[in-house]
Amino acid sequence: MPSLPPLDIKKNINYAPHVVILGAGASYAAFPHGDKNGRVLPLMRNMVEIIGLEPLLQSYGVTTGYEDFESLYDSLAADAKYKDLTIELENAVLAYFAEMRLPDEATLYDLLLLSLRDKDVIATFNWDPFLADAVKRNRHIKNLPRILFLHGNVDVGVCVEHRSKGFLEHSCSTCGQPLKPTPLLFPVKQKDYTTNPFIKNEWDEIQFFLEKAYLVTIFGYSAPATDVEAKELLLNTWKNNNTRELAEIEIINIRPREELEANWSEFFVRQHYAVFDKIGYSLSFKYVRRSCEAFAMATLQQAPWKENNFPETKSLEEIHQCLQPLLVEEDNEQLTGEPCE
Ligand SMILES: [Zn+2]
Repeated sequence: MPSLPPLDIKKNINYAPHVVILGAGASYAAFPHGDKNGRVLPLMRNMVEIIGLEPLLQSYGVTTGYEDFESLYDSLAADAKYKDLTIELENAVLAYFAEMRLPDEATLYDLLLLSLRDKDVIATFNWDPFLADAVKRNRHIKNLPRILFLHGNVDVGVCVEHRSKGFLEHSCSTCGQPLKPTPLLFPVKQKDYTTNPFIKNEWDEIQFFLEKAYLVTIFGYSAPATDVEAKELLLNTWKNNNTRELAEIEIINIRPREELEANWSEFFVRQHYAVFDKIGYSLSFKYVRRSCEAFAMATLQQAPWKENNFPETKSLEEIHQCLQPLLVEEDNEQLTGEPCE
């Protein structure tokens, strides 16, 4: 028998986490026209062109393979004579992403953060600082989901000695020293998820939450060939989840449905999955901050809740205002399932 999720019927609270995993496609969907200053978000297929890596590569005699940065980097990293080149490539990529800035208006990343609660998790494979910046400008709301950076991030810093993690502009709360940058994991087939304490911690946490998750959303992540290990780790953890039989997995991606079903089939339990091309169809956008409750009420209690979407506005302040009734319910630990005005 599958285990039931930790659902408190009196309080209407489902304590199981909703885990959202973000890949490059998520940042691209959120910022199709680039950042605040029009800086374009590079993808693996145009990384060389967008960041302007061609002269650097040519100076080392590398003249082909530009259309797939993943394979290109993987092959360079395997060859000792390109050691300096790979370091220069890493620095150039880091510098490009570090300069990216969130547009002023509410973005998909703001909504995604606000659509979940502090029992939930967003784990991203992306290096860009958009999710971190969205946390900074929404965190006064409190009850935001936990954020994990599975491949490192340009905006995250750590003090290894005191095990503190924060954004780069912060200092360690124990020793007062500025936090140090975390490594970015570049696309090689054999990624090391255990040696660096920061990266290891992020992976320990995603596994901890995935084992308890009641909803999983995989947004814009295609588990490329250089991420075999990551996909394997996620799958093995997911298989240990005792509520998996009752849980739901959502794949949000613009790739063809058949391709996505084939790519993720090992994660599916019977028909307990959905494939959408937009994050707006995700349960956390249809039942803002109540995704796990709404899903449990519909499937286990046969008492579905009314949909509660975000208001149609680009003003972050208005969105925060709109969410107030939900935040009050959360403070009182008594949810109603009633939509906002
Ligand atoms: Zn410290």
